[in-house]
Amino acid sequence: MKLMADTHTHTIASSHAYSTLLENIRQAAQVGLECLGMTDHAPAQPDSPHLWHFVNLSVIPPVVEGVRILKGAECNILDETGRIDLEPEVLRQLEWRIASIHAPCYKKDATLEDNTNAYLGVCDNPYIDVIGHSGRGSFRYDYEKLIPLFGERGKLVEINESTLKSSYSRKNCTEIAALCKKHRVPVVVDSDAHFALSIGRFPAALEMLEEIGFPEELVINADSDRFWSYLEQKGIQKNPD
Ligand SMILES: [Zn+2]
Ligand SMILES: [Zn+2]
Repeated sequence: MKLMADTHTHTIASSHAYSTLLENIRQAAQVGLECLGMTDHAPAQPDSPHLWHFVNLSVIPPVVEGVRILKGAECNILDETGRIDLEPEVLRQLEWRIASIHAPCYKKDATLEDNTNAYLGVCDNPYIDVIGHSGRGSFRYDYEKLIPLFGERGKLVEINESTLKSSYSRKNCTEIAALCKKHRVPVVVDSDAHFALSIGRFPAALEMLEEIGFPEELVINADSDRFWSYLEQKGIQKNPD
């Protein structure tokens, strides 16, 4: 399976990532990606960019060095209600919105039930496109209940290369992918790169998907037409003016 987009990447706007946007774009072009999602951490992360990072993205052209830049954010799920750290006015201006749980900005000692409720809340947020790295070991939720619901609510489930690298999380990620296969829920495979050279590299994710015989037609970024028709339904154009 060959992927045409990597829609979850970070730049030095989040200080625990180490490449500039232009370095990321050049790497994306070099590895033959058609589209690069720039999704820096939304403001609740301790080292995230200021809110203005997310409202000034129009200064970046839609296509740079032949790569379409999808301007987005990785939002933080803040509590068991599924509240996130960007307001609708800001989310509306973005092209790609991931919601993820990160320990520094989430409820301490959350239970499986809290996490399940958090994702239920995210399902009600019409702006969220992607459920980010939900296979992380410390934040298990009721996969059986939520995975079909993600599909019904039009949320893509992310298969995250960085999360898959931990052996504990790999088990969860495989379980999640198997349920996506069972319930025909579309996924997006992403690197979650924090350094340019990780962009467009998904060996662990592709290996796991192959192992479980995951159907390629459910991987949204494995086909350009499939990817852009999904985005066009949401009003995002492949070639904006
Ligand atoms: Zn994350
Ligand atoms: Zn990330």
